[in-house]
Amino acid sequence: MSERIVVVGGGLGGVRSAERLREMGFDGQITILSAERHLPYHRPCLSKQMITGEWTPDDALLSFSGDLDAEWRMNSPALHLDPKKQSVWVPGGEEIKYDGMIIATGVDARAMGGAPRHDPRVHVLRTLDDAIAIRKNIRQSQGLVAVIGGGFIGCELACSIRHMGRDVALIVRSPALLGGVVGDDIGKKITEAHVEHGVRLATGVGIKHWVRQPGGIGIHLSDGQVFFASCVVLAVGASPAVDWLRGSGLDISDGVLCDSTNHVVGAENLVACGDVARWPNMRFNGAVRRVEHWLNAVEGGRAAAENLLVGRNHAKTYTPVPRFWTEQYGMRVQGAGLPVLGTDTTDVNGLTGFIANGKLVGIVGLESPGKIITETPELFRQNAVETNVPVWTQPEQEPAAAEAPEVLPTAMIPVPEPVAAHASSVPPSVSSSMSPPLQRRRHSRSRPEMVRVGGGRARP
Ligand SMILES: Cc1cc2nc3c(=O)[nH]c(=O)nc-3n(C[C@H](O)[C@H](O)[C@H](O)COP(=O)(O)OP(=O)(O)OC[C@H]3O[C@@H](n4cnc5c(N)ncnc54)[C@H](O)[C@@H]3O)c2cc1C
Repeated sequence: MSERIVVVGGGLGGVRSAERLREMGFDGQITILSAERHLPYHRPCLSKQMITGEWTPDDALLSFSGDLDAEWRMNSPALHLDPKKQSVWVPGGEEIKYDGMIIATGVDARAMGGAPRHDPRVHVLRTLDDAIAIRKNIRQSQGLVAVIGGGFIGCELACSIRHMGRDVALIVRSPALLGGVVGDDIGKKITEAHVEHGVRLATGVGIKHWVRQPGGIGIHLSDGQVFFASCVVLAVGASPAVDWLRGSGLDISDGVLCDSTNHVVGAENLVACGDVARWPNMRFNGAVRRVEHWLNAVEGGRAAAENLLVGRNHAKTYTPVPRFWTEQYGMRVQGAGLPVLGTDTTDVNGLTGFIANGKLVGIVGLESPGKIITETPELFRQNAVETNVPVWTQPEQEPAAAEAPEVLPTAMIPVPEPVAAHASSVPPSVSSSMSPPLQRRRHSRSRPEMVRVGGGRARP
């Protein structure tokens, strides 16, 4: 029987990892478990073109390699995992055994305590079906639409709803939009753009209570304001989709804990990628964290597939410089690195530079795509990775400034390819905690030395 790799999650990270498995020559069975009824789609458009109606659901579908040759199980969420048995269970009680697994279950929209979530006029936005329901509610109602939350998704939603000509209130707990993620200057410009476009902005406020009425929902704020909305969208963040992993023995506090090579800590032949993966990025002090950006799901998905096939002993550390973008009122904000780590800001050729421990750790620009491209190599240079030795467990504490790795003399080029996101090739060390390689032989398509699940280098 041929080997089987199960990909859990039919989103961006899942499909890009499956593609990479085939590119690497894996010719066993790929089974993709998807909790959704839709084939993989482009999530960023959900708060943009799918709300305004510029795109239809078909436009949102992701293209993927035609010869993926995968078994797609739609509407088939993984319900339970036994990593020791290498088994996963799906609805109907079916047990699916795997030789390797890629976890790419993303995140779920976070619930908001006290909000009348059961009311059909109250929505969250994570899935294509969520976006369809929000658009339908907006089109079939009149009056105010209230968006709760001033992060990327909340701001993009407010912009899209204004684009539809509807009255919008953006209700935000923090004093500024985008929560300081993009720096004060750009955050201020985005805030001004919302006001200029007629968004009714309430910042620095909490919600005291909700009153459901036939004509709308009353939202009573801590500063005494009351908004009466015909449609409400809660955009208050997300939490990792890990419920199905309860009882598996894995560390699922804030996502699936991985080592620096995407391998899940405490399990064999198991990797994770995308929004759900929490791993120590050795480029940025090795503290474990998740990254919820589109490009991280692409790069992380591909890296996870590579590292699953070569096995722990030969895996490379996954050390990307994360990149993100947001679009509002025709303005494009782009960022690279981890601005959130910054304790200070500085001007970097017209971009906002974020500094931590004397190093540039992030850049953000407004309408500056060229500058982002030219300045990103500086992030690679100042945050160079010294070694590819995998880190297997969470470091006790973040290294102090004096312990931070020294800058390598050679600049690293930020090619948006997954291999470029790996550390430079230093021979990997072998940890006693690693599993012995699987002994199965694999057939190969293109890279015969890298086509076995979980094991060392295959014989040619
Ligand atoms: C509205 C919106 C706008 C965004 N805009 C931007 C943007 O402008 N720029 C940017 O950089 N990023 C943006 N993002 C973030 C980006 O889309 C995500 O980082 C990316 O989709 C993550 O990919 P993923 O594969 O990790 O997770 P997902 O794309 O969420 O895929 C995970 C899949 O796994 C499924 N799943 C969950 N549990 C199970 C289970 N037990 N069994 C089987 N399947 C399961 C989910 O239903 C989902 O289909 C946006 C996200 C949203 C929601």
